[in-house]
Amino acid sequence: MNFRVLYKTKVEYADLSARVYQGCSNFCKYCYCRIFCFEKGIYKDFKQTNVKSKFSGRAELVKAIKHDIKQLSNNHSLYLYFNTDPFNTLDEEKEFTNVVIEEVLKSTNWRIYTLTKRPKVGFNKIKKVVHEFEKNELEKSREGILRFINVDITQGKNNICDRLWFGITITCVNDEVHSTSLGDLEMYSDRNSERVKYIAKVKELGVKTWVSIEPIIPFIVHEDGKVEYIVENPIEIIQEFEKQNILPDLVIIGRLNHIKQFYEHGLGVRYNPKIEEMYNKWYVENIPKLLKFLRERNIKFVLKKELEQTLNSGF
Ligand code: SF4
Repeated sequence: MNFRVLYKTKVEYADLSARVYQGCSNFCKYCYCRIFCFEKGIYKDFKQTNVKSKFSGRAELVKAIKHDIKQLSNNHSLYLYFNTDPFNTLDEEKEFTNVVIEEVLKSTNWRIYTLTKRPKVGFNKIKKVVHEFEKNELEKSREGILRFINVDITQGKNNICDRLWFGITITCVNDEVHSTSLGDLEMYSDRNSERVKYIAKVKELGVKTWVSIEPIIPFIVHEDGKVEYIVENPIEIIQEFEKQNILPDLVIIGRLNHIKQFYEHGLGVRYNPKIEEMYNKWYVENIPKLLKFLRERNIKFVLKKELEQTLNSGF
């Protein structure tokens, strides 16, 4: 198919995604896209945080989405995004993520999943979409009432609540990933405690929520072999949501990949192959407990394939 903005992903749980921005303003030291762009020479500096878009404005983007939607059937799911944060610093100004969401909500029956580490900005954007959508649906219903009297005016609200999912990435319940002795691992993102707070707000809005616990980085290993722990027990993340009565509707669980590049480019630490074995051992010991905990609560989850392979290897 000849797509201009959408594409089929290779991520096991995700159907479609979109290429609206290039680059990401959140400087995550483990970021696969960042590693890829740096190694391919697309980024001159690993710390690069500028974001660009090939779309000059709203009209051009809408035209591209309409073009792509025409080639697809109903019943797709769109994930925003896998190469940047949907509410990155450029989006604050351009609002292209909202343009995509609004157009897809309007023209299809697809579900849309946003995934952010900047929920402070993201929440207001999503709130705007929800209010706009409800307003339009209400208008349509009013017209319908005049004509048919029996139109269900709650339909608009139910429709958007089922179709729009707001997700956050969170791998640690406290703010440790932001304060390791080798620097902040998610430099320009909202703190973890803030992310939890905004999931509560999104729930109040009536939108479905999901949480990506990926990549779980239980510790970092210093060159002298000293281990600095970040995550003691991943169950604590879900317990925090449970304590606040805001359990997410879906959880994704994934391991740290590209460990060598994370150490050498992100942390600036010489890589030792033994580190990978240490991570594998930790995942095999701790992840099954997390899965049991989720199953006991009937929380829907997806175990990413790389982590599943690690667990199956019975390391
Ligand atoms: S938010 Fe995602 S895309 Fe952006 S730097 Fe972090 S891992 Fe990379």
